[in-house]
Amino acid sequence: QGSRLFHPEDTVIKTKHSLIGGANFSMMAGPCSVESLAHVTKMASVAKANGATVLRGGAFKPRTSPYSFQGLGEDGLKYLRQAADKYDMDVLTEVMDDEHVEMVAKYTDIFQIGARNMQNFSLLKAVGKTNIPVMLKRGMSATVDDVLNATEYIAAGGNHNIMIAERGIRTFDNKYTRNTMDVGVVPVLQKLTHYPVIIDPSHAAGHTEFVTPLGLAGVAAGASGLVVEIHDDPAHAFSDGAQALKPDEFKTLADKAFAIRELL
Ligand code: PEP
Ligand code: MN
Repeated sequence: QGSRLFHPEDTVIKTKHSLIGGANFSMMAGPCSVESLAHVTKMASVAKANGATVLRGGAFKPRTSPYSFQGLGEDGLKYLRQAADKYDMDVLTEVMDDEHVEMVAKYTDIFQIGARNMQNFSLLKAVGKTNIPVMLKRGMSATVDDVLNATEYIAAGGNHNIMIAERGIRTFDNKYTRNTMDVGVVPVLQKLTHYPVIIDPSHAAGHTEFVTPLGLAGVAAGASGLVVEIHDDPAHAFSDGAQALKPDEFKTLADKAFAIRELL
């Protein structure tokens, strides 16, 4: 269902505050984790001021270690919703478990399926039965065909509002970056599928200093949008502080990203 062969036109996903895909370019930003109402509200103001229409934030966190912060759960979703509404933004948040789909659906405009869950087929089927757009993140060891097959599990339920996010994959050399951003996957996916392709430079880079160049490379390659982690005090972030852009750094990325997009 995702193939260009049978559906040549780009999918454009319409949410309350965003058009994602086709000729549109979408900026999405926010903290890795929702930390408090005050904090996520502040981050929403920074995101919005720099052209973002989507506020990201995790309330259910798929942490590598079970001893790391796991997220605020439903309280986090409430804070995220409140912050987004204050700035007329859409909510993008991860759903980790098919049992949570109904509850997360009450708060979000876009479901995020995390890299670690890209082939959680029961979860894919569950979001596929809703009419809420889905951002499917490429698994860290997933091939292009693996990703495309994962989108089919979602589409099979009748939900065709799917976007694919490249967030870096594991390669033989991830000493200096957290993952290797596969920028080549942008034109490849655009050739094979009509779904919007989004770049997440934050989880690819792993370090603040590499986020902006990777993000700009993604825009130059033709991505339909960026999803970026931001924080005003990265040293004290509940998760992924090392890759968070501070407000002024995010402004630089956003300004350049919109300028590059204009040139395409
Ligand atoms: C995230 O977006 O914070 C996240 C956990 O991403 P990924 O699933 O790509 O690791
Ligand atoms: Mn993160």
